[in-house]
Order: sequence, then structure tokens, then C-alpha cells
Amino acid sequence: MLPQDMLALGTKRSAIRELFEYGKMRKAVVGEDKVYDFSLGNPSIPAPKEVDEAVKELVEKQDSVLLHGYSSAQGDANVRKTIADHINKLHGTNISADNIYMTCGAAASLCISLRALLLKDEEVILFAPFFPEYIVFTEGQGGKVKIVPPRADFQPDLELFEKAIGQNTKAVIINSPNNPSGVVYSEDTIKAIADIMNKKSKELGKELFLITDEPYRELVYDDIKVPYVTKYYKNTIVCYSYSKSLSLPGERIGYIVVPDEVTDSKNVYACICGAGRALGYVCAPTLFQQVVAKCVDCVSDISAYKKNRDLLYNGLTELGYECVRPDGAFYLFVKTLEEDSESFCERAKEYDLLLVAGDGFACPGYMRISYCVDEKTIVNSMPAFKALAESYKK
Ligand code: PLP
Repeated sequence: MLPQDMLALGTKRSAIRELFEYGKMRKAVVGEDKVYDFSLGNPSIPAPKEVDEAVKELVEKQDSVLLHGYSSAQGDANVRKTIADHINKLHGTNISADNIYMTCGAAASLCISLRALLLKDEEVILFAPFFPEYIVFTEGQGGKVKIVPPRADFQPDLELFEKAIGQNTKAVIINSPNNPSGVVYSEDTIKAIADIMNKKSKELGKELFLITDEPYRELVYDDIKVPYVTKYYKNTIVCYSYSKSLSLPGERIGYIVVPDEVTDSKNVYACICGAGRALGYVCAPTLFQQVVAKCVDCVSDISAYKKNRDLLYNGLTELGYECVRPDGAFYLFVKTLEEDSESFCERAKEYDLLLVAGDGFACPGYMRISYCVDEKTIVNSMPAFKALAESYKK
């Protein structure tokens, strides 16, 4: 007998992957440029040149046995120190190498953190809309999710949030800039979340953890600031990844921060190390630990994403589509032209528009458009979006 939950996860691809595979098939039939694939969040901007230079320099100059060997389980101490110093320089924090655990990207950061914190059946609160894998990650670590329904502007509904916290709550995941809405939480919002969590923590007589999932931290436009959450709430765990900021999703590299301010911080960090061990996530890729340490000050040139955001937002709103203007990440979350978003996205396929239904993000009635694509895909897709909108007027 095989575990049925794993069998189900392994045999049913995610809706996003399903659509991406469909796109590949369809492109083979009608041509690459005739299919407008907005399904995946795969960065379309190359990694900064410093990344390639760092790889070359490391490969040429370093002892290859060490470079391709194991590091410490929690990551190389010098790499962790470089990253800690960088965070302190940017945010005025007092993080040290001992507060950092290197991981294989945000997915691993989240799974490790959840495994480190959750007792069986404890709850994790999520604000809709959210990255669908949060459910897989939470349930995979023995927890349960509790979903706070969305507000029209996709900022967290704080009243419903407060009501959602109960005796069984252990953690809350936030993700700003957000996948799929592109919304960024302001400093006031973070403070309000912290106030509620402090109040409920006192009332319930237990620690509540705020897990902040930050693969899009640097992807913000128009001088928007993304607050560093550890400064506002003591029990914050940061799950970071270089997948999007350095366009390195295939290299699987990121980290977790457990600040000293966390209650019983040394033991929480020990639980992170234990969870990393239990899940087999020890010693993140050594070469790329070294590369990110050399590139801590770099970010991919995101001007193309900003241009895409403007083109798509302006183009779609002119056509009558409704959406919140995103301040960050590379997604637009748009109201579908019929209530059933899955049926809408099926109809969009007739126009070779590959859009992800909002249902998977706990937000039916919407669709996600990933605009990390070539500019010409956006320009060329506009007549298809127009025809799709017109099909609803007939
Ligand atoms: N969290 C969010 C919100 C994401 O959008 C993604 C990937 O798209 C991840 C986590 C996983 O990131 P990584 O590739 O670093 O594991």
C-alpha cells in the first residue's frame, strides 16, 4: 500500500504546470509566436553578469574538491556571515551567521520552517490569494491551513485575520510582494499584523510565528519599500530565495533567518537544523552558496518587468479588464469576465491565451497572468485579449 496523499500529489500535476505543458504542445502545432503563454513564474531576465563572472572565477580559481564538496549542514560559515552583514547593512538588523540556514530556495525554506515549528494538526493561517504550494508544504509537514478570505484590494483583511487565530494556530505565512496579486504590504499593514499577533499571543498564552516568504523582495517598482518584517514582530522567520532576484530558479539557492529576537531562538534554530536534516535539506549547493555570497549586492535588471507591467496593466484596463495595479513581483491578478474562472481560462485557450484560473490561489473569479515574458508576447497578445473580451459581449 502506498501513501495515497503522495500518490495524489505525484500523479496530478499542478494546474500551472498542466497549462505550461499544454502550451509547449500547442506551440509545436501553431508556432512558438502564436501562443501567449502567461502560465509560469520563470524569470525571463538573465542573471546579472556578476553571477556568471563569479561562477567562472570560482571554477577557475578555487580548489575544485572544496568547491563541489559538502559544506556545513547549515551552509558555509563565511557565506552566512556575508549574507548576515548584507541584511544588517540594508535593514539595520543585528543578524549573525548563526541566525542563517542556507537552503535550496524558498520552497525548501518554507518546508523546513514549517517542519521546525508545527506539531501535528497545528494550523497555519494564509491570506488569500496565496501561492498554491503553501497547502502542499503545510500539509506535507503535518499541519493544516486556515484561509483568510481576500479583500477587493488584496491587502490582508485584518478583522477576519484576528478572528481566524485560535488555540490551534501556530504560524501565519505572508508573502509580499505577492504571488499572484503583485500587492506589497505597507509598513502600517505589517505593524497591524504584528499588533494582532502580539495581542492574540498574549490572550492565548502561546507563541505565534510569522513566516515571511520573500522570493520577490527586490522585485518592486516605483520606489515602493518592502518593510523588513523581523523589525516589527519578534517571532518572525524569514524564508528567502535568490530564484527571482538573481534569476536563478534552477540553481535552488536561498536561506532562512531565525533572528535572536525569536523566543527561544537557539532552540528554534536547532529545530530548523533538525528539520533540514529530517527532510534531507542539508548543505545547500556549495558552488551557488559561494556565488550568491559574491553577488549579495546584485539584483537582475528588472526594468523589463516594469515595462511589461505597464504595458499589460494599461492595455488590459483599456480593454475593460479590472485589476489591482501591482507594485511588485511579476504577476497581474485580473477579474475574469465570468464568475467561473476555470471556464473563462478554458475559453481563453481558444485564443491561445494561457492564463491561470484564480481557484488554485483560493480566489475564484480571477486569473493570474505571469508577465515575466518577452515584451513582444505582451504586445502581440493584445488582439487576443480584445477578442476574448468581445466574445463575452455577444
Ligand atoms: N513562494 C512563492 C510565493 C513563489 O512564487 C515561489 C515560486 O514561484 C516559491 C515560493 C518557490 O520559490 P523557489 O524557486 O525559490 O523554491
